[in-house]
Amino acid sequence: MKKKFIVANWKLNGDIKTISNFLKNLKLKAPLYLKYNTIIIAPSTIYLERVYKNIKDINIFVSAQDVDINKKGAFTGETSILMLKDIGVKYVIIGHSERRFLHNEDNKLITEKFGLIKSLNLIPILCIGESENERKENKTKEVIKNQLSMILKRFGNKIFTNTIIAYEPIWAIGTGISADPIYVQSIHKFIKNYINTYDANNIEKLIVQYGGSINSKNAKNFLEQPDIDGLLIGSASLIYEEFLKILKISNDILVNN
Ligand code: PEP
Repeated sequence: MKKKFIVANWKLNGDIKTISNFLKNLKLKAPLYLKYNTIIIAPSTIYLERVYKNIKDINIFVSAQDVDINKKGAFTGETSILMLKDIGVKYVIIGHSERRFLHNEDNKLITEKFGLIKSLNLIPILCIGESENERKENKTKEVIKNQLSMILKRFGNKIFTNTIIAYEPIWAIGTGISADPIYVQSIHKFIKNYINTYDANNIEKLIVQYGGSINSKNAKNFLEQPDIDGLLIGSASLIYEEFLKILKISNDILVNN
């Protein structure tokens, strides 16, 4: 049975006190769930090293929420992939819809970031997904193909070995309205098939997780689907009780299978 990948995306939230309290509770309980889950915490850049040092011994990983395309130089305010690697970061979220819309990040830039992260042997968590209007116009698959095709054309499908894709329909993020798990299952199957058949390589360790208004009440319905390999969780991941409940749900599904 494949482990589920559960990512906590804290976005621009948290302070030393709340993070310390969260990690204290996570360290107490999460080891019970590590056999069946890979747990990844994505705090804001300023807390990455603090979180890493706190949880590295129990095999929980940290992810950055973004990275610059430049490795070093005169780029005020940016964070380099070399710096992330230097402090122990293993995963990097890229292409989150908040960055696509609020920071005008396009598929070209995201393709650059994807290649850069892979070239340093870190693992990208690539967010993709359609807007409300695109869904209404039945364009979900077309949008997803567009978001993936520049990477595929540039590097071939092999680059997706050992990567994570987070399918996050934009209309489901932070709205309290999650997508239908059966619909998500079909989209995940489509994503895996599209990447796997793009050229001759059969891609290993391609994780496709779902994100969008996940909480402890709806997580089970998603995690039970065969092609939903994990979850990217925003607001529910800020509350340690809620996050631990989701880890337990994920664990219990796999224990019972
Ligand atoms: C996200 O921002 O990636 C996300 C899934 O947020 P939420 O869980 O709050 O919808």
